[in-house]
Amino acid sequence: MLLPARLSAPPPGWARYADVVVVGSGIAGLTAALRIREALATADRGSADPTVLVVTKDQLSAGSTQWAQGGIAAALGPEDTPEEHLRDTLLAGAGVCDPEAVRVLVTEGPEAVRELIALGAAFDRDPAGMLALTREGGHHRDRIAHAGGDATGAEIQRALVAAIRAHPDIEVIEHAMALDLIPGADGGVAGVTLHVLGEGQRDGVGAVHCRAVVLASGGLGQVFAATTNPAVATGDGTALALRAGAVLRDLEFVQFHPTVMWLGGDSRGQQPLISEAVRGEGAFLVDDAGVRFLQGEHELADLAPRDVVAKAIKRRMRDRGSDHVWLDARHFGAAKWERRFPTILATCRAHGVDPVTDLIPVVPACHYASGGVVTDLVGRTSVPGLYACGEVACSGVHGANRLASNSLLEGLVFARRIAAHLGDALPPRREPAPDRRTPGLVAPAARDRIQATTSALVGVLRSADGLARATGELVEVCALAATDEPAAAAWESTNLLTVAAALVTAAAAREETRGSHWREDFADADDAWRGHLDLTLEPTAGGSRISSTFRPSLDHSPLLVPEGSA
Ligand SMILES: Cc1cc2nc3c(=O)[nH]c(=O)nc-3n(C[C@H](O)[C@H](O)[C@H](O)COP(=O)(O)OP(=O)(O)OC[C@H]3O[C@@H](n4cnc5c(N)ncnc54)[C@H](O)[C@@H]3O)c2cc1C
Repeated sequence: MLLPARLSAPPPGWARYADVVVVGSGIAGLTAALRIREALATADRGSADPTVLVVTKDQLSAGSTQWAQGGIAAALGPEDTPEEHLRDTLLAGAGVCDPEAVRVLVTEGPEAVRELIALGAAFDRDPAGMLALTREGGHHRDRIAHAGGDATGAEIQRALVAAIRAHPDIEVIEHAMALDLIPGADGGVAGVTLHVLGEGQRDGVGAVHCRAVVLASGGLGQVFAATTNPAVATGDGTALALRAGAVLRDLEFVQFHPTVMWLGGDSRGQQPLISEAVRGEGAFLVDDAGVRFLQGEHELADLAPRDVVAKAIKRRMRDRGSDHVWLDARHFGAAKWERRFPTILATCRAHGVDPVTDLIPVVPACHYASGGVVTDLVGRTSVPGLYACGEVACSGVHGANRLASNSLLEGLVFARRIAAHLGDALPPRREPAPDRRTPGLVAPAARDRIQATTSALVGVLRSADGLARATGELVEVCALAATDEPAAAAWESTNLLTVAAALVTAAAAREETRGSHWREDFADADDAWRGHLDLTLEPTAGGSRISSTFRPSLDHSPLLVPEGSA
């Protein structure tokens, strides 16, 4: 598919310097900023005072982290081990995880969570004062630490924001959208252009020159019409990294959360999530005839990995001609609902459903991008000077399907690793290259059509025919929706189009069913496809084209789940 030629921001109205720019202020970005400042301050850099700048598109707390409910997974219980956490993670990842990255995640995870607690995040405790741990889909042990019952992300975000605000040496610019990276003369990154709103003298488009950019810009859920992700999750980091020459990996593995509250046929934007932890505590799914349909599907029944549950729901909805199924947690009773899931209880009640007495209508919706910008074990992307962590990155820990509650942990662990690496080896300052890119933004009005296309044709159920139709739709959007108006909303819709095009390319190339990628026309997993799909943007006459390359997986662990189900 031909995309607009590479973009260029309008000439910057201001310019400044920071050693490191962190893009995004969720668990990954704020952890990275705190740790990088610490690492640079302790590294021997002569008399220079290290400068770390956080830029974030909205307010500090606007990302997905704030919304996380269930918790954060780590082998913290007395009977648990990193080895068991590794096994569960590889199993969910369906043969496409990077085992070394998973080992890093599970072995460094417990220490990273303890550091978060030391920073001030208050997790729930049992009567003896020990961390209260619960279980979620795909985990064979109780290893999910949670806060405020079901408000884990809000507590983590609160603690991190407090630490950042209290830090005298970390600067923050809110309402600053990263538009594009400034290329360096040697092909690396020399800085980032920003669109800043309402920051007095810095209002408008500006340039920050730096030695390293850490992308921590979160997910891409808004590329679909219905998602659990907040409004800021428009895949900006994924798109701007692709434009800068970075490699994207495993983008087709978009996770659809099985239990998102069904609010009616035309619901758009962020939808309320009913955490997996509700099933972890004993809730179960039934169809419109009251039948529990997960028991024959997987040994873990209602606690099977997300893709298994999402697919089973979609199949059941198709078979019965219904537009949702039901989650039954009435047996919890009011006291347990109020103690364990106060946020979900309040959300359900606000939508007219009382889960103490009613079944909750649920349906799968876009939730998480397992793929993203490829990084190595210290967060380096394929572009010198560009690092990535958190949901925007593909560190290799999720493979074809993320294990529940591993994403907050990934943000924490790999942000710390980037910091340690930059403390040892801060890249040199690069001369900016002459900018030869041309404008080619997509009008904000195209957004609805992009979202409708991906939702209808690139969702839980995919086929060659549907993906070809999706390509045709996106090509038309490209041709019809060009704009010269460089507003932030035009950058967002351009990023959505870029991500949608990359997603369709990857989903069409992978002719098998694996993890969260389900092809109706290739219903089984195929060992020939056990590996990664890498995407790059190649310049062509009149635009750019996304091309894909297959790379065999390093994960040789046996797939212990039925073919096609994980
Ligand atoms: C409803 C919900 C529940 C979840 N529950 C859990 C859970 O229980 N456990 C778990 O492990 N995971 C959970 N997840 C997933 C997890 O919350 C996310 O994967 C994780 O928080 C991502 O963290 P992050 O720091 O990478 O990104 P985010 O927290 O999304 O932060 C991204 C940041 O980047 C900023 N940004 C975006 N674009 C730009 C730009 N162009 N310029 C500047 N800034 C930009 C955003 O404003 C934001 O500050 C859940 C997600 C959702 C949506």
